[in-house]
Amino acid sequence: MKVGIVGAGMVGSAAGYALALTGAASRIVLVDRSEALALAQAQDIAHATPFTAAVTVEAGGYEALAGADVVILAAGVGQKPGESRLALLERNAAVFEDVIRAVLRAAPDPILLVATNPVDVMTHVTAKIAGLAPGRVFGSGTILDTARFRSLVAHHLGLAPQSIHGYVLGEHGDSEVLGWSGARVGSEPLTSVAAQLGSAITADVRARIDDGVRRAAYRIIEGKGATNYGIGAGLARIVQAIRRDEGAVMSLSLVTPEVTGVHNVALSLPRVVGASGLRSTLMPTLDAQEVAALTASARMLRETSDALGL
Ligand code: ADP
Repeated sequence: MKVGIVGAGMVGSAAGYALALTGAASRIVLVDRSEALALAQAQDIAHATPFTAAVTVEAGGYEALAGADVVILAAGVGQKPGESRLALLERNAAVFEDVIRAVLRAAPDPILLVATNPVDVMTHVTAKIAGLAPGRVFGSGTILDTARFRSLVAHHLGLAPQSIHGYVLGEHGDSEVLGWSGARVGSEPLTSVAAQLGSAITADVRARIDDGVRRAAYRIIEGKGATNYGIGAGLARIVQAIRRDEGAVMSLSLVTPEVTGVHNVALSLPRVVGASGLRSTLMPTLDAQEVAALTASARMLRETSDALGL
């Protein structure tokens, strides 16, 4: 599978490295506004490949994306001093206008996987510009928040994260919603398993896990200025699910016709990932509080999309 990555900064390069290590791609092409950066990252990742799977890694212009099955969009511009969030978004949307047109000239029908933040709004921007079939344009959304949620619950119970099933929904950001009421361990409700193991999910435990999930990125950015390895691995995992046509369920951001009464909004829900991209959505069971929180998250995203004319 040929995978293009536009934006060879922290996130794009981590995705390229994870794709090389896992063998999820057989050809990786890095494109960046800075040709020197794309080349340096491609060479560095290529030097890891004698130790990994059979994969070629190269840098190039947009024309090098010809034949790409998946293109990861990780390009972005940073906030200028004093610039509002909306002004930054407008600038990033303008960058995407050029980027997506250039990508589609080289590869007319790829799957576009958006990683640039704010990922939900950028997913909506991308879907509108690209005009590809529904399900072929989606964002990494809360894939990482869900991974953190499962890990923290697993740690509390002393179990494997793979056996914890629960999702973080809505915005990838402050308004995201942890789906506690539908969370399961194996086939059993989380609360029942926690009681059986003598590790009740008290209000304190819940608040601690909620904070651990919601604030994780802030803490990492405080320490190192960016987050990249976790999301890089998540992006590689999504590509693998596409390549193998897995039907894996992951929380990913997609323009959704309607959720809790809010229309035409890009946000994360559990989605089924296969060779054609996202092939369906599985609406989780939510209690009244979670429905209210998801509605608030969706409305906030819809307002931002309104401000951008989406
Ligand atoms: P992040 O932490 O989100 O990866 P970075 O600033 O490290 O952020 O990376 C963003 C990358 O996107 C930079 O390498 C930048 O050169 C690249 N970029 C910005 N605008 C464009 C563009 N129009 N086309 C291609 N790459 C771009």
